[in-house]
Amino acid sequence: MTDSHQASLFSEADLPPDLLPWEIAAGEDRLLAEVVFNRPLTTIFQYFVPNELREMIGPGQRVQVPFGRGDKLTIGFCVGLTTTFPPGRRIKTIAALIDREALLDARMLELTRWIADRYLCGWGQVLESIIPRGVKSKAGSREVTFFALASWRAETGQPLGEPGAVRPRTSEQESGALRHPAHPEATSELDLKLPAKQRAVIEALVAVGRPMRVDELAEAAQCGTAPIHGLRDKGLIVALRERVMSAPVMPTPEAHREIRLNPDQQRAVDTILSVVRASEHRTLLLHGVTGSGKTEVYIRAIEEVVSYGRQAIVLVPEISLTPQTIRRFASRFSSIAVLHSHLTDAERHGHWQQIASGAVQVVVGARSAIFAPTPHLGLIVIDEEHETSFKQDSTPRYHAREVARRRAELEKVPLILGSATPTLESFLKVLRKEDLHLSMPSRVERLPLPPVLIVDIRNDPAIAKGSAIGRALFTSMMDALKAKGQIILFLNVRGFSPVLWCRGCGEGVKCPDCDITLTYHKERAVALCHSCDRSAPLPKVCPKCGKPGLLNLGIGTERLEAEVKARFPNVACLRMDSDTMSQRGSHDVALEKFRHGEVQILLGTQMIAKGLDFPNVTLVGVIDADTLLHQPDIRSMERTFQLIAQVAGRTGRSAKGGRVLVQTSSPEQPPIVRAAAHDFLGFATDELRHRQALKVPPFSQMCRVIVRGPDEKEVHAYSDKVGELLRAAAKELALDVRILGPAPCPVTRLKANFRYHLQLTSIELSPLQKIWLHAAPKFPSHPEVEFVVDVDPLNLR
Ligand SMILES: [Zn+2]
Ligand SMILES: [Zn+2]
Repeated sequence: MTDSHQASLFSEADLPPDLLPWEIAAGEDRLLAEVVFNRPLTTIFQYFVPNELREMIGPGQRVQVPFGRGDKLTIGFCVGLTTTFPPGRRIKTIAALIDREALLDARMLELTRWIADRYLCGWGQVLESIIPRGVKSKAGSREVTFFALASWRAETGQPLGEPGAVRPRTSEQESGALRHPAHPEATSELDLKLPAKQRAVIEALVAVGRPMRVDELAEAAQCGTAPIHGLRDKGLIVALRERVMSAPVMPTPEAHREIRLNPDQQRAVDTILSVVRASEHRTLLLHGVTGSGKTEVYIRAIEEVVSYGRQAIVLVPEISLTPQTIRRFASRFSSIAVLHSHLTDAERHGHWQQIASGAVQVVVGARSAIFAPTPHLGLIVIDEEHETSFKQDSTPRYHAREVARRRAELEKVPLILGSATPTLESFLKVLRKEDLHLSMPSRVERLPLPPVLIVDIRNDPAIAKGSAIGRALFTSMMDALKAKGQIILFLNVRGFSPVLWCRGCGEGVKCPDCDITLTYHKERAVALCHSCDRSAPLPKVCPKCGKPGLLNLGIGTERLEAEVKARFPNVACLRMDSDTMSQRGSHDVALEKFRHGEVQILLGTQMIAKGLDFPNVTLVGVIDADTLLHQPDIRSMERTFQLIAQVAGRTGRSAKGGRVLVQTSSPEQPPIVRAAAHDFLGFATDELRHRQALKVPPFSQMCRVIVRGPDEKEVHAYSDKVGELLRAAAKELALDVRILGPAPCPVTRLKANFRYHLQLTSIELSPLQKIWLHAAPKFPSHPEVEFVVDVDPLNLR
């Protein structure tokens, strides 16, 4: 069930309708399993554990149980065992146990419960979401037959490694578990008179002392398979089926040169190690400018925890999971696992097993790698902690940074947050001395930060004629190319032009399903909605008024590429955006071309704004710094600052130096001015003061409630009701919460749904949670309107 069905939140509609009085003898020794479901419910349900499953069931395993009206068999997660009976409720019995072993340990269960409480969703929803599909389906494992001595078989229990669900035994089926052959004297088979080859098979099993695969056994006994089958027919050995994993492919290690730390790096490492050695939880903000050598600091810290036999988790934005990053870690650790979104279920399952076995030293991955089941976690690192992709935008809407904080606290390990442009949330914690600040204000090898020139394009003749590249940028490009340097051009808009303008209506053509203008993609010859991905042939006339002659306004990366090719005809140019880089690996191929100098100009979206390190890039051009500036979002200034600072960081990474040109129509805007001056502190101080005055995050906590549905009137009426109930709850509980709205969302229509929202703010999170838990069960159910609650929302569209 998706989050779109939150309309039934906390309603007890799924409870058995026929509640019977409690009739079970209190003293009876019966075990109950506490079970949660993939539903937006806060309830934990109890089920009897049948005797046959008593010894096998435990928290973290899945069960199949009768649930709801009609007792439909449903899969749930066992989260605890108890002998305490809930009063007044008829208790049903578990139908089957799905997993032989717990999918998560006790600490991870605690973490998932915390996520459910914090982000106001069901515990079962969190469990369903974070355990990879491949782990649940045991993807990639195959059944293998092992042979064992019949005398190893015990009389009770379950067959070893029987695949699939374990059901309470109903028939007299034989089910013997393997007693591990600790008693070699039990091998009376050797006393029997057997043909030499069969005897060799028995001897091999006795010598090895464990079940063996047919090929292993044949090799050990130096025979074919016939003697093995002969022994099986005589009943002296038995065949056992077991699931085994195919081993995942690990990246190959690579030699590395010894890197000397500069004093800033050394100080950062020393502080981190002192925290590691104290085995306590602290959060450390590693605030280092672009090119200051943060990765080397992470690696030194990880080396320390690995030397204790512990594991580290390193989260990076998905976009940064490049071979370059992976090689960096692979060259320093003998076993790493890389978790990215392109893994098959089988690969994911393989990694999960390896990680859980403790065989992996370092887990490198995107957001969900925070749930890697490391048995002895020693350290968590989040690189580029300011990236919004660490927040999940479907249920559970968790932020990996907050989950990492909680996990690090539970496991008493340090958490390192690294960034050149920390979020104001993280920076405020440093100012308040809650977290430690590790500052690396200069680049490695004493390289200076590049000079950044702000170019006011309001009176630029080239721009006025519709060019993307103004006069100053063009001249700088010519100079850079002449000096054999490479160039990066950044533009945050993909497609050819972001607006199809109708002169008749005086406005842009919008997606029929969304309140968003269509982007013209020339190569695909379509008008595309960047919200719902709906594409249609380019309209010849305005769909609203029927007038012909729609104009392409604005510039996207396709158009920029066309212009670069036209104005620099003999220069190799490459475009990187999600249209050209849709295949796994294409990103790496493109970057290798650029690295080897086959390409002089690299242009693209945020894909090229982050993490890239090319010494020969001597010029970075920001085509339009204003794209994020005017969005109705409390973080638009912060994002503009981050973006310019990050893009600027792509140059000046060698003795060749480098410079940055930022084209803007708002040259006096603080984030642009501060980013050009490399002045994070100045920006953060001003912006924090501003946010404090407005009482918005990070000075308050926020929840956003979105109500959506196909009929605007219904959505509006429902959101009014939601607002009423929330305000009533705030009043009843006497909690100081500010409730704004309902109002239409900035994007009022999305994917054929009308959207209204409410914003709840308070200094602490708990009043918001209390109000929600009080009010939400009273929300009426409506067949066509649904609602979503987003705690700490980052997307306010
Ligand atoms: Zn029109
Ligand atoms: Zn759309």
